[in-house]
Amino acid sequence: MHEKDIFCKIVEKEIPTDFIMEEENWVAFKDIRPSAPVHVLIVPKRHIAYLEDAKDSDRELLGELLLAVHKVAEKLGLAEGGYRIAINQKEDGGQIVPHLHLHLLGGKKF
Ligand code: 5GP
Repeated sequence: MHEKDIFCKIVEKEIPTDFIMEEENWVAFKDIRPSAPVHVLIVPKRHIAYLEDAKDSDRELLGELLLAVHKVAEKLGLAEGGYRIAINQKEDGGQIVPHLHLHLLGGKKF
């Protein structure tokens, strides 16, 4: 068992969070320290710390996360104009929370 990270706690509703969307395998919620007018995190419910920990059996989940991006972007009105996606990995990549997540950034021209 890994120590529960903050996103596990959010996923398990131990920390009250305004979810933008929730499906069986992932949740989307606003980043607490936004670095763009729209900054949403898309987080798999299953704990995977880093991309390198994903297994062949996670293939479907990884695909689902990319499909989630578009769903959330549509919901937030970003789909037409576009947006940026980032997946930070480990220390040099600027990853602070060791639970795989996608940053969806939008609402301005990058
Ligand atoms: P990372 O740097 O690991 O790629 O991104 C982690 C992100 O999670 C950061 O942008 C940070 O602001 C956000 N974050 C950290 N703790 C919380 C929290 O408790 N609630 C929310 N909504 N976002 C958080």
